[in-house]
Amino acid sequence: MTKGIQALRGMNDILPSSTPVWQYVEQILIDVAKRYAYQEIRFPIVEKTELFKRGVGEITDIVEKEMYSFTDRNGDSLSLRPEGTASCVRAVLQHSLLYGQTPRLWYLGPMFRHERPQKGRYRQFHQFSVEAFGIESADIDAEIIAMSARLLQDLGLREHVCLQLNSLGDRAARQAHRQALLDYLMPLKDQLDEDSQRRLTQNPLRILDSKNPQVRALLTEAPKLPDFLSSASSAHFERLCLFLDQLGIAYQLNPNLVRGLDYYTNTVFEWVTDKLGAQATVCAGGRYDNLVEQLGGKPTPAIGFSLGIERLISLLESVGQLPSASTVAQADIYVLIEGEAAQLEAMKQIDSWRDAIPKQRIRMHCGDGSFKSQFKRADKSGAKIVLILAPEELNCNAVTVKYMREDKPQHRLALAEVVAWLQTLTF
Ligand code: ATP
Ligand code: MG
Repeated sequence: MTKGIQALRGMNDILPSSTPVWQYVEQILIDVAKRYAYQEIRFPIVEKTELFKRGVGEITDIVEKEMYSFTDRNGDSLSLRPEGTASCVRAVLQHSLLYGQTPRLWYLGPMFRHERPQKGRYRQFHQFSVEAFGIESADIDAEIIAMSARLLQDLGLREHVCLQLNSLGDRAARQAHRQALLDYLMPLKDQLDEDSQRRLTQNPLRILDSKNPQVRALLTEAPKLPDFLSSASSAHFERLCLFLDQLGIAYQLNPNLVRGLDYYTNTVFEWVTDKLGAQATVCAGGRYDNLVEQLGGKPTPAIGFSLGIERLISLLESVGQLPSASTVAQADIYVLIEGEAAQLEAMKQIDSWRDAIPKQRIRMHCGDGSFKSQFKRADKSGAKIVLILAPEELNCNAVTVKYMREDKPQHRLALAEVVAWLQTLTF
């Protein structure tokens, strides 16, 4: 026998038993974005490799070792998108969305990174992201963070996550800090791991992002970025903190929070949890005031965040906040059919029932099957009500209504009354 073909490692199928949870989560994310008057944008999942090299930064984990890059038939180097911000900036520039406008956008979809697969870390994963362009003041930083807080709130996760906040300052601040960091780390070089040693010459700031406990221990005494901020950056950060206080959003200052991508400036934040082991960051974002210019546009301030949907769903699972069983049921009403005449009548009736109750899911039994096996299917579907169309019912132009999850007696209903009766259902 030939061996079946399996999916790629780290790339998951999302099965029908899980899609209701995904839809539940996605609906909440989209609803929140709409409530803040953000608009959806969609862009391709493949772009020129150059876009990510320039946008994400050459000396980042993503570009150095995580991209799915390939040469296409024309000899162009293309990559599956490892994140959305660079593509989003490319799209708004290409379509001139920044002329006299300050778009606030959201998108949701798969991202691809060649990482070592483990719980909470996959090679195809999904992000929900928002980006706001053209606004320099800290009110938009506060709005973006408030939006992320609200969606965690609406998912019932607020008490399980904590907001960490830092400012990376502007280029000058980072340069001054870089020198101080180098002066501090150079004498300790031998105690750093291989990755951090390499970063020492290429991008020392990223060492602050190291997950190695030994490196992290060395960093407690390292020079901190917040001590290097310009007065403008400090004022921006203070104003953001004031707004967050007004909003009643608690935060922890984390001077070592730098984020894994090069494009961030000033505000950076992460929502972290202690419930998911090493993969603790559920949502991460910040300001990237230089990126639009770096990708060929006029200097334009911008800010956004990305939330990992797989991690969000694991968190929902681990704290028992998954939606109730009814959302996961396959159908609300299951129609049992026996005999040729009943099947013909069912074909005629069921669509008019769907017209009458567009929000309920009606599943018609298809294929043969004894009454008993049809009932088993109905039960498995999670349906609350079974409508039976069999010769006996047809003889009196009626259906039998049977309640699957309630202790109520079954009853007959004239076919002519089914639509009106369905409309009285409240589940
Ligand atoms: P990490 O430090 O965990 O590698 P990151 O800094 O690479 O995260 P971002 O690029 O900021 O992550 O992506 C934003 C969010 O996307 C993360 O906070 C996380 O929830 C999710 N995410 C990132 N990489 C993966 C992955 N490989 N699998 C699943 N989710 C991911
Ligand atoms: Mg990463």
